[in-house]
Amino acid sequence: MSDFLENDICDIVQDILPLYHDGVCSEKSRILVEKHVKTCPKCGDLLRKLETADADEAKLIEERQHVLAHHEKQEKTLAMKIGMIIAALLLLPIIIMLLVTLSGGTDFRSDVVLISSMLLVAGLTVVPLISKQNRFAKMIIVSTLALLLVIFTTQQLFYHGSILEFFEIAFSVVFGLSIPFFPVILFDSSLPEGFQNKKGLITMIWDTVWFFLMMFTFGIAYPGALHDLIVVGSFGISLVWLIFLIVRYLPKHPLMKAGGVLLVIDAWFWLGIRQNWLTFEVGSYSGKILVAIYTTLALFGILLFIIGCIRSKMYPDYFKDKE
Ligand SMILES: [Zn+2]
Repeated sequence: MSDFLENDICDIVQDILPLYHDGVCSEKSRILVEKHVKTCPKCGDLLRKLETADADEAKLIEERQHVLAHHEKQEKTLAMKIGMIIAALLLLPIIIMLLVTLSGGTDFRSDVVLISSMLLVAGLTVVPLISKQNRFAKMIIVSTLALLLVIFTTQQLFYHGSILEFFEIAFSVVFGLSIPFFPVILFDSSLPEGFQNKKGLITMIWDTVWFFLMMFTFGIAYPGALHDLIVVGSFGISLVWLIFLIVRYLPKHPLMKAGGVLLVIDAWFWLGIRQNWLTFEVGSYSGKILVAIYTTLALFGILLFIIGCIRSKMYPDYFKDKE
């Protein structure tokens, strides 16, 4: 009888041993286990096995992390070394050129342009190799600055360009590069709380600012065109903004958004013709085709909008979740 009871307790203790080990059993179970393992070598052994298994696992994880960290460090060191070699190679032509200049062979202006060109190459190669985080963003920023420096030095030293002309080119370059690269840089980086879900809006504001800087510098260079540049530019930009706002913020059915976008594009087309900003002959053959296309688009937009309306009334829950 006593033997049977002893075995029974062992079974119970072994059942709750994992719970005891994880520290999640009740106070009574804890006392029972602690009392029992002191007197029962079999259960005591089991508990020790649980403890060593845990320690082994921890050790294994630590070792694995160590190996990974080591590997990563090795890779980074290699990239760093390659980066340094490329940087040194880029210095070679600069040194040779400077020596030639010192001996009276070339003009100092060529050195300046060469140095800025080498900075551009370094921005595209060395920077991503030696930087630890946000490689892409750093590469784009440094390369853009170096590109502007190349433009500036070539233009000022060889073409006697005006500063205004430089800004015309610089703003156009930054605007042009921003369209594909700014979103990538922005979505790659972590912004402060509150700005994290406003990346689309930040991109739109950024691009708009560079667009108008570009328009203004062109307008200063050609004062007769300033009015048209600003008015027609705003006309174009406002269409882009409207599409963005409809797609991003209008809390409606996707088909309604698509219909809305089509209708806005259509409205801008007709407005453009009315104001003579879009130059084409309505009566000509190509004009007739365009009118036909835009009329069809408008009808299609209305159709999508109506279908979206009906669907959102039929399945009101569908987009309650999305909002
Ligand atoms: Zn036992």
